Amino acid sequence: MSNDIFDIDYARAQDAADPLRGFRDEFLIPLHEGRQQAYFCGNSLGLQPRGARAHVEEVLDKWATEAVEGHFTGQAQWMPYHELVREPLADIVGARPHEVVAMNSLTANLHLMMVSFYQPRNERSAILIEAGSFPSDRYAVESQVRFHGLSPDTNLIEVEPDLPGGVFSMDAITKAIRDNAARLALVIWPGVQYRTGQAFDLDAIARLAHEAGALVGFDLAHAVGNLDLGLHESGADFAVWCHYKYMNAGPGAVAGCFVHERHAETTRPRFAGWWGNNKGVRFKMGTEFHATPGADGWQLSNPPILGLAPLRASVEQFQRAGMTALREKSRALTGYLEQLIDAHLADAIDILTPRDITQRGAQLSLRVKAGRDAGRSLFDHLQSRGVLGDWREPDVIRISPAPLYNNFDDVLRFARAAREWTDGR
Ligand SMILES: *Cc1c(COP(=O)(O)O)cnc(C)c1O
Repeated sequence: MSNDIFDIDYARAQDAADPLRGFRDEFLIPLHEGRQQAYFCGNSLGLQPRGARAHVEEVLDKWATEAVEGHFTGQAQWMPYHELVREPLADIVGARPHEVVAMNSLTANLHLMMVSFYQPRNERSAILIEAGSFPSDRYAVESQVRFHGLSPDTNLIEVEPDLPGGVFSMDAITKAIRDNAARLALVIWPGVQYRTGQAFDLDAIARLAHEAGALVGFDLAHAVGNLDLGLHESGADFAVWCHYKYMNAGPGAVAGCFVHERHAETTRPRFAGWWGNNKGVRFKMGTEFHATPGADGWQLSNPPILGLAPLRASVEQFQRAGMTALREKSRALTGYLEQLIDAHLADAIDILTPRDITQRGAQLSLRVKAGRDAGRSLFDHLQSRGVLGDWREPDVIRISPAPLYNNFDDVLRFARAAREWTDGR
């Protein structure tokens, strides 16, 4: 076996020794000039599990043969359909089953959670988020502040990153929460920051927010299916996420939501819909609303069954692989990417993501030293070689090896294509 990490035999030997290598064949990988792409966009849209189609077809067939009866008869009934993914999702995010529900979309869930958990009172009226947050999160937060008749100028606190590349030290987060403790109603923080790939200590952030007398919610869009999460233990009040990124449940897939069990029977305000009404009374079609205890009580509508179906295939894979084993492979795979960049591309590329493996997931965010145009040129070159990362304005290339389907060979293809580009300049 070769010890040269730039050698194809080295990458192949790593792949041969990978206990999770069989999962790759369970995915449909787009082709580039007849060969499988090296697909590094699992943080944006995960690849299609082969098993997804059968679940979608099952719904179509059931609709064809049973029509309205499909809600209550046969296999995979639509009435309790969201319950089919509840336990596996709880495992994946480290929660208790009644703390999680698959519903709506991420941003819609963020709004629903803020309706219940952002209750500005007198002096305690501010929401604290990270500066440079994902636009949808910022729009949601800002609009909630305005909805309460308040000004974002004074009630939206955006913490600036204090380290190079847009990374936060825990000291900066701690200081921001403590300095604003008296006026904080809510802290919303990402599990993994989408642009830099930085992963955060959610337990520590939840503790700080609670010590400050605030509530805390996490946006786990880039963390679910990526990190080994322990949401219940973190003590977070709520969390939201989507399922089309590392969870591979397809474009616009039904999203996820966590509500800590301490709020299971809360009397806080909520925006209600009939699907959150207790099953015992839901179909009495009366005027009274009795929220289902737990996360289910925040559901609004009967779920889009076709949008939920692929998630069944996905959670089954995550269950089978196990988050601990996936995370172990992910560390090795992303570590290999880092090693290759350090050894062969350090003259041209900076890694913005923290080097500390406890502060990152699968993704490395890269910046070409020669500037934005050079960055675009590298990105285009990679694409011409069938290596697909993604570009985030103004100048970041994100490369995210997903441990369920990416392999060491993919990672080496990235490094070789990038080296070809630097050599040609
Ligand atoms: C992907 C992502 C979103 C997307 O929101 P949708 O409501 O699913 O369209 C929002 N926030 C963050 C942090 C994301 O990474």
